[in-house]
Amino acid sequence: MAAVRNKFLVSRESSLFVSAASLRLRLDWFNKLRWGAAAGILVAVMVTNVYLSQSLPLIPLLVTTGVLLLLNLGYVVRNQRLAPKDIDAELRLVKLQMVGDLLVLTTLLNLTGGVENPLLYIYVVHVMLASLLFKGSEIYQIAWLAIFLFTAEVMGEYLGVLPHHHLLSAGGLTHELPFISVSLASFWMVMLFCAYMGASIMKHNRAIKDELVEQQAELVKADKAKMDFFRFVTHEVKSPVNTAQSAVETALELGSGKMSPAVEDMLTRAVRRMQQATEIVKDLADLTRGGMLKKENLQVVDLSRLVDRLATRLRDVAHRSGQEIVLQVPEDPVVITTNLSMVDKIITNLVSNAVRYNKDGGQVDVKLTSERKVVLLKVADQGIGIAPEDQPHIFKEFFRTAEAQKKTNLGTGLGLAIVRKFVDDLGGSLKLESEVGFGSTFTVSLPRVSGKAIAPKGDKRTMS
Ligand code: ADP
Repeated sequence: MAAVRNKFLVSRESSLFVSAASLRLRLDWFNKLRWGAAAGILVAVMVTNVYLSQSLPLIPLLVTTGVLLLLNLGYVVRNQRLAPKDIDAELRLVKLQMVGDLLVLTTLLNLTGGVENPLLYIYVVHVMLASLLFKGSEIYQIAWLAIFLFTAEVMGEYLGVLPHHHLLSAGGLTHELPFISVSLASFWMVMLFCAYMGASIMKHNRAIKDELVEQQAELVKADKAKMDFFRFVTHEVKSPVNTAQSAVETALELGSGKMSPAVEDMLTRAVRRMQQATEIVKDLADLTRGGMLKKENLQVVDLSRLVDRLATRLRDVAHRSGQEIVLQVPEDPVVITTNLSMVDKIITNLVSNAVRYNKDGGQVDVKLTSERKVVLLKVADQGIGIAPEDQPHIFKEFFRTAEAQKKTNLGTGLGLAIVRKFVDDLGGSLKLESEVGFGSTFTVSLPRVSGKAIAPKGDKRTMS
């Protein structure tokens, strides 16, 4: 394990970004930053020229800002047109962008006083950004490029190779060698120190990220192995259980009145147990069914109507133990684009659990609320509740609390595992609040469009 981890730490492939898409998000953010920088430059140029009677070379400044705007437009259009695929290709491009930014910054500084301009420390921001994106030597490359460009600019002005635009607020000595030397020395020091800090902090972060990615990959592998095993068991057990159940049911039917009460009782109990086995097989089939969240399985669902329909279906069972299911749904349709059978299963499992573990004569509240980006479904009962130490386990397969087992032996221990898996698959979240003896509240939050990445542009309009 340690060897594997070390391999990860020194791996050339190691990058802060898990995917090209996550890097692209960062690049989109940089593009926004660049728009802001260009706007800031324009405002600063106007303000200094109009209000501070400082005559800066307006046309070259506007041309340089225009170049920055055009470059950024190019980056934005490229990001919109080309999907992120390859981290290395994205990183190569971002290096080029950074070189372009440094050239623009150096030109702007040359037009606004050079070493006299306190904004020269914007170079530091570039080194910090580089340390977010690149690794060790690459961060130093950016730092050294910035040092080279700025030193060349300052010396160019000093030696008269480049024009100098004196800032009114700067003193006369700022163009003398002692001032220039001290400024450049501190500039070099700050840049190299930033590169060092950035490189070491990010090295540490990357090591943590690599370890987390490795652990997550192991978890995913273990989860897949578990699901494969469940799928195999379901497949192997399904037909023998079905055959045995129908054989015993037929035997009961044919032999009704002809067999001894003891045999009839035994066969009836066998049927009941096989019904339980069938329930487990059905739940396992639900849990292990893959690919439910495909484009073609998404449809527009009115959740208010669905909740109403499912609650009506479970009302008879609730009435048998004197319970009431109270619905609170908005009057307007609550419409989401999702997989109907997955949402149906989530609601059915939560409401039937609430009824099953409620106190006799208790109430089950089912509340649906519609928010801007998500819809919330709250299912609350007044039943046995779940002890804090059991709460982390109830979403695991086959886990049933001792209290639940005492209350009923009807239950597979798979309902909540299915709920958790389906909510995850749909891109939602799940919350549990519970107090022993007072009841439990499960809150599901579902996005308006499930599995956003695969949602079709022209949704299938099928109302539930
Ligand atoms: P089961 O078929 O046993 O109900 P689930 O996976 O649906 O399986 O639930 C797992 C366990 O979580 C239950 O056995 C029970 O211990 C607990 N549980 C689920 N819902 C509730 C609830 N509303 N109130 C109390 N306990 C609950």
